[in-house]
Amino acid sequence: MTRKITLIPGDGIGPEITEAAKQVCQQAAVKGRLNIDFEAHYAGGAAIDRIGIPLPEATLTACMQSDAVLLGAVGGPAWDAVEPQLRPEKAILGLRKALGLYANLRPIRVYPSLVEHSPLKPEVVAGVDMVIVRELNGGIYYGERLEGTIVNGIEEARDTECYSDSEISRIVSMACKVARQRRGQITSVDKANVLATSRLWRRTAEKTAQRFADISLQHLYVDNCAMQLVLAPNQFDVIVTSNLFGDILSDEAAVLTGSIGMLPSASIGDGPGLYEPIHGSAPDIAGKGIANPLGTILSAAMLFRHSLDAVAIADCIEAAVARVLEDGYRTADLYKKGLTQVSTEEMGRLVTERL
Ligand code: NAD
Repeated sequence: MTRKITLIPGDGIGPEITEAAKQVCQQAAVKGRLNIDFEAHYAGGAAIDRIGIPLPEATLTACMQSDAVLLGAVGGPAWDAVEPQLRPEKAILGLRKALGLYANLRPIRVYPSLVEHSPLKPEVVAGVDMVIVRELNGGIYYGERLEGTIVNGIEEARDTECYSDSEISRIVSMACKVARQRRGQITSVDKANVLATSRLWRRTAEKTAQRFADISLQHLYVDNCAMQLVLAPNQFDVIVTSNLFGDILSDEAAVLTGSIGMLPSASIGDGPGLYEPIHGSAPDIAGKGIANPLGTILSAAMLFRHSLDAVAIADCIEAAVARVLEDGYRTADLYKKGLTQVSTEEMGRLVTERL
């Protein structure tokens, strides 16, 4: 059976980093005896230029009919002036909605060879290896909103957070399954001392985790979690939290690594998943062949793990990335004297060689 991957290079550095990742995937699949087939499609600015909209029907259909989607990045100054509903970023929101992606997974790993890039002391970040599981489809970002209302001469605005127990149970189950492939520890983050939605979150998390006897669950208030991520980030295995808290905490945690080009992500639902690096299209370095493709390559590893059930291939790609770094190869963003600077393409080739 051939597994179908829709490839969306996107804009800026997108085509360069996805090409490098594609080479790695193809070689990893050969080694792992898995048949994969890439089909490239336009989205974002590249689609606006050609078809007039950020998420063409053909792209959406291809994504829905594939096993998974690998995306580079979309957007850039060339499309800053387009109408808000036609902005390149609408392609990602449209895909999330159409594919029903309710879980966002962000692994945060500090590689021993990159420890000095962190803004924190090496002894604090050494060995950090966690995954943040963020609920992506509900909460305050999707709740009822009130804007531009004047009450007794005073302007008011309102955002509403709403969660059902089934939404919470679904995301906590996902976190438990992720933890099972790791160290089996979940930290559920909420603000249950203040918010009603958080109290429901905590009760439901308890109930859901009982179905996973091998998982240990602890609860943390979001303010404490924000502190702990800086004080002792090593304590975390899997963090599961709401859309709003996850948005903020995952960016805080990403900074611990000090290297935006290295960080992968996965957005998962019941159908095809969407895999992309966390960075944007980096228009300042686009076309120069110097972008770091490792975040995209590690996103591809997640694709093998979560959408193709090919855990051994995922492990192999991740190990190859770690080895390239240990061997002293760096793209320009992480280069330091004494190491070997390589291009985007060379970095892809070096990972491929080490699979
Ligand atoms: P950015 O992440 O593109 O770039 C921030 C800085 O990090 C830049 O200096 C860039 O050169 C550097 N950088 C990013 N990725 C890199 C890589 N792989 N290798 C080396 N250096 C890298 O963020 P931005 O400049 O705020 O946004 C640029 C465009 O990307 C905007 O149009 C924004 O809307 C879009 N964007 C898209 C996504 C997405 O597609 N998911 C996410 C964020 C931003």
